[in-house]
Amino acid sequence: MSASILFTKAQLIDGSIVDVATEDGLIAWIGPTGRCPLTTSKNISLSGHVVTTSFVEPHAHLDKAFLADRISNPSGDLMGAIRGLEAVRPTITHNDIVERAMRAVHLMSLNGVTSIRTHADTTISGGLSSVRALLEVKNKCSDFMDVQVAMLLEWPITGVAGKEHRALARDAISAGIDVVGGCPHLDLDPQGAVEFLLNLAVEAGLPLDLHADENMRSDSSDLEHLADIAIRDNLSHQMNASHCVALSTKSEADIDRIAAKVSAAGITVTALPQTNLFLQERGISTNPARAITPIHRLQQAGVIVAAGADNLQDPFNLVGRGDPLEIGSLLMVSAHVTAATAIQLVSSHAHHVVHGVASCLAVGEPATFVATLAANLRESIAMGPPDRIVVYGGVVIDNQIRNRK
Ligand SMILES: [Zn+2]
Repeated sequence: MSASILFTKAQLIDGSIVDVATEDGLIAWIGPTGRCPLTTSKNISLSGHVVTTSFVEPHAHLDKAFLADRISNPSGDLMGAIRGLEAVRPTITHNDIVERAMRAVHLMSLNGVTSIRTHADTTISGGLSSVRALLEVKNKCSDFMDVQVAMLLEWPITGVAGKEHRALARDAISAGIDVVGGCPHLDLDPQGAVEFLLNLAVEAGLPLDLHADENMRSDSSDLEHLADIAIRDNLSHQMNASHCVALSTKSEADIDRIAAKVSAAGITVTALPQTNLFLQERGISTNPARAITPIHRLQQAGVIVAAGADNLQDPFNLVGRGDPLEIGSLLMVSAHVTAATAIQLVSSHAHHVVHGVASCLAVGEPATFVATLAANLRESIAMGPPDRIVVYGGVVIDNQIRNRK
């Protein structure tokens, strides 16, 4: 059980200064500084820090993290990265995956992340090796990080050609994955692939998270297919569509029509600006599109939109610091959101995508937050300072906890 702590002089994102008391892993009191009526066993000053509900990485690929220098992707696009990865897959061992994934988890933890949903390659050549390695990582870091492992099923999954992949998907569920997923837009029958993956998720009682419309083709319609099927079957299920950059190639009227259906179906959307800016629109010099999910219009329709980093220093994205504040900065520059919205996308809304409910700093909620040394929220996103205090379930996370298992 965690000790009761009074965190004093915390600056909230609206600029107000408060004290926060924690007890038994929960927030027990929040109010004007110096007025807490509770007795706590410890005081920690957060003077000079901006405090937000902790960061959540809703879309990672921990099995590929830090492979940038082992795989070449001369074309720099999505298919180039996939081909490069397949070429070296036999060299990627279980311990190799665990080691690189743990390095990424530690980095994200230092940056204030307390929850990660990672996709795990589920392919014929690699079998369940990524799934098994990432389930081990999930266990190894459970004292400071809540990890979900999502199957990322290779294609095709439809028709006769997809038989082996469909069997592999069921093996991944038996192995203990937390989330069902795949890439319908790469399948010969994208609509059939969406339907198969959704049915599988519902049947297994697991959330669905698709790599949806990760291209700049205006006829790519994974997100709309998912919404149509969910509405047709009157489904109430935890569903997320990641990427959805093809949506930005459609007319505003079409975006609004699709967004209304996505909202009605309760589907969340995760924007991944860094990797999509890296992969899409390669070699186009005149009027290149931005490859950014249309966040404003989705939000206007009532869709919960989150944002994440996706790949971390691998052939899909050679850069990245495992820092949601870096993604927040990119969102402000490329998607023109405010600092408050940017932080919401990488914290409370990302929590909604991963856990089905938004996180917030309120009495009775888990005492899970991050304090960043900065003058205000905008500056914290602009500077991304390394000085952060990470609290997970009322416990201040340090390297002793990170290295315990
Ligand atoms: Zn991805």
